[in-house]
Amino acid sequence: MGFRIGLIHGDGIGPEIVTEAKKVLDAVSCVYGHTFDYTNLLLGGASIDACGVPLTDETVAEAKSCDAVLMGSIGGDAKTSPWYQLPPEKRPEAGLLRIRKELGLFANLRPAYLYEELKDACPLKPEIIADGFDLVIMRELTGGLYFGERKTVVEDGVRKAVDTLTYNEKEIRRIAVRAFDIARKRRKKVTSVDKANVLDSSRLWRAVVEEVAKDYPDVTLEHMLVDNCAMQLVRDPAQFDVILTENMFGDILSDEASMVTGSIGMLSSASLNETSFGLYEPSHGSAPDIAGKNLANPIATVLSAAMMLRYSLNLDAEADAVEQAVKRVLEKGYRTVDIMSEGCTQVSTTQMGDLLAEEVKAGH
Ligand code: NAD
Repeated sequence: MGFRIGLIHGDGIGPEIVTEAKKVLDAVSCVYGHTFDYTNLLLGGASIDACGVPLTDETVAEAKSCDAVLMGSIGGDAKTSPWYQLPPEKRPEAGLLRIRKELGLFANLRPAYLYEELKDACPLKPEIIADGFDLVIMRELTGGLYFGERKTVVEDGVRKAVDTLTYNEKEIRRIAVRAFDIARKRRKKVTSVDKANVLDSSRLWRAVVEEVAKDYPDVTLEHMLVDNCAMQLVRDPAQFDVILTENMFGDILSDEASMVTGSIGMLSSASLNETSFGLYEPSHGSAPDIAGKNLANPIATVLSAAMMLRYSLNLDAEADAVEQAVKRVLEKGYRTVDIMSEGCTQVSTTQMGDLLAEEVKAGH
């Protein structure tokens, strides 16, 4: 099959890790006979340097014409980069916020998976992670407290700040449908996280999620209060499959879930809209401290490409092949410097990309 894929190389380590992910996608295309037609898109600092702005209308139009977009990461060192002398709306991050908005990306998906070989990096006790864990957090990205009306006023000489948490049923339904669809591709369990004992928005959330669940009799639904979920993530993360939650709760819980895996260079993410389109990127930033040194771990970007194969291109077997390749390369003891441990073989960014691409070909 033929697919059009947008590639945002981005800034810092972005070009290095996207180049390696492309190497792995090329191996997939070679083995499975697909054609990936790549379009390079400029975003962030690279776009400021080339076009004077962090995102152009042309890039937005090009991105919309793709089946999916794979991105490295954008941004530079805030203390030294000239990009941060610009007004906030012209800085690299403004381009990222705008492209997410232009593409209608309302669902953010972040997996937290514990690799057997990287268990030492996990800060939880060995008995808690004996069986590993494999969960994803589905976070609503365009509503709730971060987008509600806000103001700061002085009343009778006292400063007062107000933020508003609003959701309507359509916003809840569309993300719930996404979460149930994804649960169907996994272990068929959704944990919907809210604060329904206090918040009206959470009570509506719970009611709408229950309505959506009726269309998915094969998927188990449970509800959990957010404070309990924060505890359960460190007490027994293996109980979770898909965690579905609103914007702010998801912001906090997804960082907590990333932390318990212990390895930032391994964490992928996807932002999805109402179609099959998605923007796929590692959870980490552009790591300017190691940019250009062939040291960056490309695995988070490679795993983001695997998510793209699964969720936007509907190529499950190909996604499995990439994920299995990552596991086998780790089993063989190859590590980039960020996940290096005693007895393993340290490799560079490009060597890791080569190993993964070879493993995709060998595994077929
Ligand atoms: P960072 O994630 O870039 O780096 C934090 C630490 O982790 C650094 O020591 C870095 O070397 C290391 N690290 C990160 N990714 C790695 C990888 N793949 N392999 C090995 N080591 C890795 O976070 P930061 O330093 O706070 O941010 C740097 C820049 O990235 C900033 O401009 C920030 O705004 C931007 N950023 C962009 C995104 C994005 O593009 N979505 C996300 C977060 C941060």
